[in-house]
Amino acid sequence: MLVHENIDLQPHNSFGVSANARYFSTVNSLEELRRAFQFATEKRIPTYVLGEGSNVLFSRDFPGLIIKIALTGVEIDQASGVVRAAAGENWHALVSSCIGESLYGLENLALIPGSVGAAPVQNIGAYGIEIASLIKQVEGLDTRTGERFNLDAKGCCFDYRDSIFKKAQGAHLVISEVTLQLDQDWMPDLSYLSRHEEFTEMSPETPEQLFSLVCRIRRRKLPDPKLVGNAGSFFKNPFVSAECLEELKIRHRDLVSFDTNDPGVKKLPAAWLLDKLGWKGKKHGGAEVSSMHALVLINTASATGEEISVLADRMMASVFDEFGIALEPEVRIL
Ligand SMILES: Cc1cc2nc3c(=O)[nH]c(=O)nc-3n(C[C@H](O)[C@H](O)[C@H](O)COP(=O)(O)OP(=O)(O)OC[C@H]3O[C@@H](n4cnc5c(N)ncnc54)[C@H](O)[C@@H]3O)c2cc1C
Repeated sequence: MLVHENIDLQPHNSFGVSANARYFSTVNSLEELRRAFQFATEKRIPTYVLGEGSNVLFSRDFPGLIIKIALTGVEIDQASGVVRAAAGENWHALVSSCIGESLYGLENLALIPGSVGAAPVQNIGAYGIEIASLIKQVEGLDTRTGERFNLDAKGCCFDYRDSIFKKAQGAHLVISEVTLQLDQDWMPDLSYLSRHEEFTEMSPETPEQLFSLVCRIRRRKLPDPKLVGNAGSFFKNPFVSAECLEELKIRHRDLVSFDTNDPGVKKLPAAWLLDKLGWKGKKHGGAEVSSMHALVLINTASATGEEISVLADRMMASVFDEFGIALEPEVRIL
């Protein structure tokens, strides 16, 4: 295991912002992962586990060890529908391979940037599907004990863009492998997708067509991080009580809302709130709110992480002032 000193994190985050990591190590095995944590313990420095960096914002230099997860390997058992993938594998490539092996369930999650290991962390979701519904087990290293852990979906405590891995009780768990249970039969969930213009042009009749449709919609709606630095949706959609929604609707009749499993709780699209306040295209230094999508902050070329963070703070403050709603960042800010 090699440990590098004073590494610029710019190539390691989809915002493409520069920040110095005091130490940086790429780990290819569980043993290397253990040794990386040992190194940090001996030096008494903080650690941060990194996948492909598409859901993090480095707002300042990192004084400790960044541990880049690069464990690889995929096993697909077509007969049982069980798929095991190492944490360092690319998520979109896995989705594509599973469809190629005639195993289904992941199509709506195509083209989500990032690694397999990070997918359960924020319970990635798109177009009505969350990875939580397909997880069989998540394995990895408990960095407090040095032992392996193994959790089923219930143990992962999945919620909307949330899991045990984002909470204090799971912050010491590093994922090395994810096992999914997929289907041999194709049972598409088209409920969310049918709202999009691409769907009316061509309703998908095969898993491959659904995969292509999802990719087309995403390419139209979201800036490509390879071309424009961004981390997808910066904020989570907020939940409010049904009473609160009624009050808000007195002043904002056109306010959009979605039902949840609890009739007393409604989900609001954060993009609508921000759009209403005219945030699209607003700037702070090199940071800008995308003109394509009010939830997406972009690096126009030379933004610092701090500028993006300040812009995000201003957006949250304005939503709170106008709607009394505290937006929560989806992106992990360091
Ligand atoms: C253009 C764009 C579109 C996006 N669209 C979506 C979307 O539709 N739905 C969605 O849910 N997300 C979306 N995202 C967010 C992002 O793709 C996901 O959160 C993805 O899972 C992040 O993967 P990553 O490897 O880049 O994680 P990183 O950004 O490297 O890490 C994210 C978090 O996971 C932790 N982590 C990473 N690997 C591990 C591991 N092995 N063990 C424990 N913790 C780990 C990190 O410490 C960090 O807290 C989008 C991002 C972009 C840039």
